[in-house]
Amino acid sequence: MTEGTTYSGFVAIVGKPNVGKSTLLNALLGVKVAPISPKPQTTRKRVRGIHTEGNRQIVFVDTPGWHEAADALSEYMIRQIVEALAEVNVVLWVVDLRHPPTREDELVARALKARPEGIPVMLVGNKLDAAKRPEDAMEAYAELLPGAETRMISATHEGAVAELRAEILAMLPEGPFFYPPDFSRSDQSPEEWAAELVREEAMKRLRDEIPYSIATKTEEFAERRGGMVYIRTVLYVEREAHKPILIGKEGRMLREIGTAARKQLSVFLARPVYLELAVKVYPNWRKDPEALRELGYE
Ligand code: GDP
Ligand code: MG
Repeated sequence: MTEGTTYSGFVAIVGKPNVGKSTLLNALLGVKVAPISPKPQTTRKRVRGIHTEGNRQIVFVDTPGWHEAADALSEYMIRQIVEALAEVNVVLWVVDLRHPPTREDELVARALKARPEGIPVMLVGNKLDAAKRPEDAMEAYAELLPGAETRMISATHEGAVAELRAEILAMLPEGPFFYPPDFSRSDQSPEEWAAELVREEAMKRLRDEIPYSIATKTEEFAERRGGMVYIRTVLYVEREAHKPILIGKEGRMLREIGTAARKQLSVFLARPVYLELAVKVYPNWRKDPEALRELGYE
């Protein structure tokens, strides 16, 4: 894991439809991460992507409500948005510099004004490349939310996006990483990542040879009704004799491993997790090329 002080935070990208939010998110990420959950609006936070750079990590999240047509934003939805915003560290409000603000932008501004104190909003004027009078438009948007920092960019322009990314990274509060440091760069799937967490928790608790003889594999990772994620991970040991040690007296060891891993998974995924663990014997898997392949080691 990363040494020394780390900085991390949740960043929400908000704005009415079609202003370039998705384009900007993809550009900020640079790399596309596998979506962790395919279902929007089942929880208050849905992770859209992670960007890690050195000792800083941005977790981009969705806030519910923005997906509806903005002109239908009801009081109820505005309240939901405001609540969701309470859990983020930075808000990027994206607007379209080609046009002056509309009623939809005013509604967005209203929701943002009601956010809890101390959460900075950066007002990002997008589509600078195609705007005729960008300064005038920017000024009109800024009037809707006095005090917000403003930036003009093109989400399609790499340099501008890199600058914005650096600014966001600098705004993150001190705090532990929410995801493994290499998460955004690797193509590790959520299944592999869950397996890795379980293995780490097992290794922490076992002594001698046994930790190294454990391999883990997630066999199921599925979203269930109500937004709960069901994960089934198998721990493989090399010898029958290792099994009872890993399971522990009255299953205590395995339960401890499961609880610790589940807690982290549920924080990372921002939703309840049901983690089922099973222990199986895979004789001498460390010396078996086929087993190594099967368990995800090349
Ligand atoms: P969202 O609904 O806010 O997520 O908007 P999208 O990211 O889907 O973008 C809406 C449209 O605006 C798409 O056709 C994008 O290609 C276009 N777009 C996004 N960013 C820019 C930009 O910086 N300049 C120009 N000219 N078009 C952009
Ligand atoms: Mg979009």
